[in-house]
Amino acid sequence: MKGGKLIIFSAPSGSGKTTIVKHLLKQPELNLAFSISATSRPRRGEEKHGEHYYFMDLSEFKQHIKEDNFLEWEEVYRDNFYGTLKSEVERLWAEGKNVIFDIDVVGGLRIKKKFPEQTLAVFVKPPSVDELKIRLKKRSTESEDKINMRVAKASVELATAPQFDRIIKNYDLEVALEEAHQLVADFVGVTPKAT
Ligand code: 5GP
Repeated sequence: MKGGKLIIFSAPSGSGKTTIVKHLLKQPELNLAFSISATSRPRRGEEKHGEHYYFMDLSEFKQHIKEDNFLEWEEVYRDNFYGTLKSEVERLWAEGKNVIFDIDVVGGLRIKKKFPEQTLAVFVKPPSVDELKIRLKKRSTESEDKINMRVAKASVELATAPQFDRIIKNYDLEVALEEAHQLVADFVGVTPKAT
């Protein structure tokens, strides 16, 4: 596999990385396309198959693992598998796009290792674990149990931050969005347009 640039945004759940990735996708000069991951977790709210994720059951996911169809995959939470299909990245590279990922820290670092030169790996840091919990509660898309599971995982994930190329502190969203825009523009070699 060879192709364009890869831009990874990883962070604990609730850090705001999805908001940052969505903002970057709206900037035409960056020429980005979102890597739609496969997952075995159930659909949430308004999520659509083939837009937010490729939703599949556990047996289908495991079949893809067997056939070596993933660039990386992780059991991010128990029985909830997530992975990047090689075919997805190849599809977007064929369109001449730079590919942007919203994936967990382990998956992010795995892709960086596979494509060290082509990849910018960014870690989004929340102000604190307590603040994360507040944000996840506000989002109210998960049960209390699931929120606690995500918060427990956050401390482990925060420890991986130094392994990333860059860390963006998401204390003030506007500042974080601007910083992310500049960073990605530099990496893909364009001048960021004002938003
Ligand atoms: P959520 O269930 O909130 O959509 O995602 C849970 C976590 O899985 C998030 O940290 C998200 O970034 C991560 N994730 C989503 N897609 C992938 C993927 O393809 N690979 C890996 N390793 N993690 C992913």
